[in-house]
Amino acid sequence: NSWNDERIGTSEIHGGDIVVVHSRFDELLNLELKKHGNFHNRYGIFNHDDLLGKNAGRRWITASGKVATGAGFVIVLRPTPELWTLSLSHRTQIVYTHDIAVITAEMDLRPGSIVVEAGTGSGSMTASLARAVAPTGRVVSFEIHEDRAKKATEDFEKLGISDYITVTHRNVGTEGFKGIPESSVDAVFLDLPAVWDVAAEAERILRVDGVLATFSPCVEQVQQTYEELSKLNFSEIETSTVGFRTWDTKKRSKDYSQSETEQERKRKRVSEGRGNQAGERSGIPDKDDIVKKCDVELVSRPYREIMTHTSYLTFARRLENKPKPSDAKVQSEGGDKPG
Ligand code: SAM
Repeated sequence: NSWNDERIGTSEIHGGDIVVVHSRFDELLNLELKKHGNFHNRYGIFNHDDLLGKNAGRRWITASGKVATGAGFVIVLRPTPELWTLSLSHRTQIVYTHDIAVITAEMDLRPGSIVVEAGTGSGSMTASLARAVAPTGRVVSFEIHEDRAKKATEDFEKLGISDYITVTHRNVGTEGFKGIPESSVDAVFLDLPAVWDVAAEAERILRVDGVLATFSPCVEQVQQTYEELSKLNFSEIETSTVGFRTWDTKKRSKDYSQSETEQERKRKRVSEGRGNQAGERSGIPDKDDIVKKCDVELVSRPYREIMTHTSYLTFARRLENKPKPSDAKVQSEGGDKPG
């Protein structure tokens, strides 16, 4: 299981392992390491052999040791569910970590929980669900698209988390969750267009107090889901969205930015006879200025726009079965009988 602490850290890397290559905080990819393999990016060529037998969490330097552009090295990390979400191959839209965190908490998942998911998609959510329920629980995931189901299964095997996940190729809209006994699962997560088609099946397999969570991009889908859930045995139906924004934080010199404009600074340097052509062209302050005058402060700005598509998260809790009219009749008949 590569989701446990021992392998997430700095354990030794072997051929066949999946690693996450971190080039920049917003540029991650995953890679299966092979003897004599290599990997190219804008910095140059990296040899897999340079990593085998070494520990993860290290810098990986280009084969030539030369820097083509930029830093000339990347960081090699063991996958975690969060790093997997940022580095996996997108075969579909995926659920990102900020939504996954809310969904997993609301579903009250814990080691040993049984959770049913549809559809598997690119497996971003599935991988996080697996960590939440391991080592004794299970994720039972369904996907209508055969190739996606196959690729997700292969990914989970390579990641070493397949003991906790079963992916089945199935249209749950027509076949439902057949084979899963009534009231047997702790949570159901639905990320597919027609959630309402599967709601009755979710009700059937959820235990009392189990939670259904759905992820839908359009409010019209939420309304239709809500209507369906209201007819079924669910309570506490709630919808929310998670706002998420990445901030780009940079160091800048405090005095320089606050007390003098660029133009004022240039004029002053020239009038003092310390004009530095290169500095003036690039707008870089003299080294002395930095050393003598500048305190460093951190400045944050929103980094691009929101990087995920927004979706609505709807949660509902499975109620006890309402007594059927026939049960009530039997009871009252029984109650009427003397002695
Ligand atoms: N939650 C996934 C993730 O984080 O990677 C992404 C799921 S993707 C948005 C929706 C998936 O549901 C698609 O792969 C699609 O093929 C699948 N799907 C749609 N309708 C389905 C159905 N009736 N039964 C099973 N899977 C279905």
